[in-house]
Amino acid sequence: MAIERTLSIIKPDATRRNLTGKIAAKFEEAGLRIVAQKRILLTRAQAEKFYEVHAARPFFGELTDFMASGPVVVQVLEGEGAVLKNREVMGATNPKDAAPGTIRAEFAESVGENSVHGSDAPETAAQEIAFFFSGLELVG
Ligand code: ATP
Ligand code: MG
Repeated sequence: MAIERTLSIIKPDATRRNLTGKIAAKFEEAGLRIVAQKRILLTRAQAEKFYEVHAARPFFGELTDFMASGPVVVQVLEGEGAVLKNREVMGATNPKDAAPGTIRAEFAESVGENSVHGSDAPETAAQEIAFFFSGLELVG
């Protein structure tokens, strides 16, 4: 499998509980390298733009309010099959369904406040990385 990059977000429920280091360690233990990282506070408009594919979903307001409710840490993860590997480390969207040892099983509070975001395909990863980072900020 090829070396890929994917976009990861450590969400406000996790930054609030001081879990950024524990979550980053899960990625690194799985062989993913953090090649870019910054802590930012999204505006509601930026959160709406980032999650615009979900604009018609009933939870869109709740999701974008939450994503703008506190700092997030955005990261670019690199490694073999990084998109899928990251999603395996994250676990299922709903922590009740997440496999033991995954980030969401260990840390997520609910289906909405589920500690991490990860891109779902290489194409969306490229778009999401460009949303947050310039090429100069990616240091492999
Ligand atoms: P993400 O895109 O954040 O990595 P995901 O791909 O596992 O998560 P999506 O279906 O893309 O899940 O949903 C995006 C986000 O919207 C979820 O991570 C969660 O924060 C929120 N969400 C999804 N379903 C619900 C729901 N039923 N109620 C509240 N929030 C939800
Ligand atoms: Mg998704």
